[in-house]
Amino acid sequence: YMLDRIESLDSKLECYITVTEKQAMEQAEKVQKMIDDGTLNSPLAGIPMGIKDNICTRGIPTTCASKMLSNFVPPYDAHVVKKLYDNGAVLLGKLNMDEFAMGSSTESSHFKKTKNPWDTERVPGGSSGGSAAAVAAGEAIYALGSDTGGSIRQPASFCGCVGLKPTYGLVSRFGLVAYASSFDQIGPLTKTVTDCALVLNAIAGHDPMDLTSSRRQHPDYTKALINDVKGMKIGVPREFIDDSVQKDIRDAVLNAVKVFSDLGARCEEISIPIMEYVVPTYYIIALAEASFNLARYDGVKFGYRAANPKDMLDFCMRSRSEGFGTEVKRRILLGTYVLSSGYYDAYYKKALKARTIITREFNKAFEEYDIIIGPVSPTTAYRIGEKINDPVQMYMEDIFTVPVNIAGLPAISIPCGFDSKSLPIGLQIIGKRFDETTIIRAAYTFE
Ligand code: GLN
Repeated sequence: YMLDRIESLDSKLECYITVTEKQAMEQAEKVQKMIDDGTLNSPLAGIPMGIKDNICTRGIPTTCASKMLSNFVPPYDAHVVKKLYDNGAVLLGKLNMDEFAMGSSTESSHFKKTKNPWDTERVPGGSSGGSAAAVAAGEAIYALGSDTGGSIRQPASFCGCVGLKPTYGLVSRFGLVAYASSFDQIGPLTKTVTDCALVLNAIAGHDPMDLTSSRRQHPDYTKALINDVKGMKIGVPREFIDDSVQKDIRDAVLNAVKVFSDLGARCEEISIPIMEYVVPTYYIIALAEASFNLARYDGVKFGYRAANPKDMLDFCMRSRSEGFGTEVKRRILLGTYVLSSGYYDAYYKKALKARTIITREFNKAFEEYDIIIGPVSPTTAYRIGEKINDPVQMYMEDIFTVPVNIAGLPAISIPCGFDSKSLPIGLQIIGKRFDETTIIRAAYTFE
């Protein structure tokens, strides 16, 4: 049924880069047998899902939506993929994204532009735009995305689904193609908060293959699916609801505040005064890390190879200049620049200090409050082509999502209304480190 749906819808929406039809049928049959003979018992058993194309799947192309990796077939599964398979999940295919997860609209994909299912002239958000659009359009029951600076939450908000960026270290990054390693986290995109808890249960947990993976035992997140926010302390930063935010988004967030208050939560306006520094801090650190993570694509070991090279240097240079798209090149250059000897102290080192201060500000707020709420993005889904030629404007729109990655916190995006054009609006709920439970409990209010 899901495969039929992909067949009929995906030529229009272009969510998938690869559809794994044959493998899906085989997997489904195998899982059915295991359910029948009682050897498999998981709420995810037999449920069809899709995976962002920067998460490695054994024997199935993993392209990062780049020409550079268009022929790359990983010899291993990412930790999260293995966990989902162990739970009987059925893989439908690999989902479109911005090239190497660099972007906010899925327009930088080398292969195709995914459309927003609510209005096909608009972007689905990004970089996990294929994942969010597929879930919203019913081309997958759920999907995995990755979030370095908002790439799960922002497309979830643009497409009206639920997207969770877990605490840094809760979900293994083994097998996720690295963009900015100190920010990257894998997380679920789902239709409901309940599904979000179920998928998180399956993918969270320690993995010795990721040195940043936490060893703490994680709780059963479905235990948080209770309708009770009485006494919860909620901070609403005034910087999150000022007039840089589209009016109907502000109204929707304030309405959510009212809903929480009516249910007995204590909502208070707070201030996070460092908000003007979060975007520059994020982009300096993310691009610095990206420039060295992407240094490995030299055409020699794997990936795209330039034809008829003159010599080794020509081979390496042309493989990279032909293999990477414009946005990726821009970021490698900027990242190399902020790390270069004359500028390291002025940019990179300063950004690391700012990171410490931003983290401290959030932790200070969390001494008083259980969660912080606000918008996911200052706008709803915009038109395809509208912002692609103004990268700085596009970067600025990440203002509400990047602080969460800078501080390593967990945050969810849930649908909380529609704007005047009937486009979905996302509410962001940010929690303390490793306190996904409280986020899910608060989010469940809106289920
Ligand atoms: N839009 C942000 C960026 O381009 C976030 C991307 C992401 O989270 N992968 O870096």
